[in-house]
Amino acid sequence: MRVGVIGGGQLGRMLGFAGIPLGCTFTFLDPSAEAGARAAGELIVAPYDHETSLDRLAAMSEVVTYEFENVPADAAARIADRVPVLPSPLSLEVTRNRAREKEVFERSGISTPRYRVVESAQDLSLAIDDLGIPCVVKTLTEGYDGKGQIVVRSGGEKKEAIRRFGERPVIVESFVAFDRELSVIGVRSHDGDLAIYPLVENVHHEGILRVSRAPAPRAEALREAAEAMMKELLEDLGHVGALTLEMFERDEDLIANEMAPRVHNSGHWTIEGAETSQFENHIRAITGLPLGSTRPRGHSVMVNLIGALPLPHDVLAVNGAHLHLYDKAPRPGRKLGHVTVRADAPEEVEAAVDRLRGLAGAYLDPPGTVRHGNS
Ligand code: AMP
Repeated sequence: MRVGVIGGGQLGRMLGFAGIPLGCTFTFLDPSAEAGARAAGELIVAPYDHETSLDRLAAMSEVVTYEFENVPADAAARIADRVPVLPSPLSLEVTRNRAREKEVFERSGISTPRYRVVESAQDLSLAIDDLGIPCVVKTLTEGYDGKGQIVVRSGGEKKEAIRRFGERPVIVESFVAFDRELSVIGVRSHDGDLAIYPLVENVHHEGILRVSRAPAPRAEALREAAEAMMKELLEDLGHVGALTLEMFERDEDLIANEMAPRVHNSGHWTIEGAETSQFENHIRAITGLPLGSTRPRGHSVMVNLIGALPLPHDVLAVNGAHLHLYDKAPRPGRKLGHVTVRADAPEEVEAAVDRLRGLAGAYLDPPGTVRHGNS
């Protein structure tokens, strides 16, 4: 099947790599001629809202998907007039707007931090007072990797938040003093079949995911609740394709943070660590193929390579390590690749991650982040 993808970054690239063996061919739309997905298919170089390029993408595709949720609504609508867009424009509309997302969480009985949506400096000030400090101010749309948000811990930071965000629609959330962060990825097919991956434990630093452990250690008791939340969301949205839910764990309860209508960085481990990867299952779902098993193969740790790259030789000398490079120019804070270490026993994986941590140039485990062991 001919698949169109809006966005040509690493997620598009890995979708392509997973779909090619299934007989799919890919066309990507991306503003950069250097987009990493060009290795997996044809690349249309144009802004996401460029009308003739969107028409070209639609004409070249039997189904169109996207690798990020900040697709302009008009662009999705223009394509959806001509060819199926999956996940549907409804999933896109909900997940690109934090307020809509909260409504869906509440409707589905999923707990989420207390929040207020405001549009003026005065209301922002009142909302911060009402929710109390610490709280988090986030733009309603277009935030990712910690961009477009600020944690307010003092009067000075409140002033700074009002200066930065006072004149635009924002959401203010109470700060969750979480024990750890978890995520779950689910995939729903055209026929309503579901495939849900095990819970994953994530470590973020400066808003950017650094390390994922899968299946999440000590999470057996939370599994059922996470699966029920994912099922509820997939069915509420009539979603087709992958959906990721990011959560906080506090006192053994799950609190939803946000969701993404797509494959996700916290699911990269599935390439080696699960029977069927998130990328393959997303492609299977949107092309009408049966979904594959999400059963984990032993234990995996995924480590993002951010800002600088270690030597491939050094990474691959570590037993159980698999290297994925995204063909992106190094820049501080930029995700350039990832390494997944997979092994049958959790201790083996952690020993390999310790070796990776020592590699020159690899910024694997940032200072100040808590490392959770498996005990
Ligand atoms: P987000 O863009 O909403 O995924 O936020 C990025 C990261 O900021 C999360 O992974 C958390 O580490 C942190 N964060 C976001 N919202 C909150 C919150 N309400 N309480 C505590 N930490 C938060």
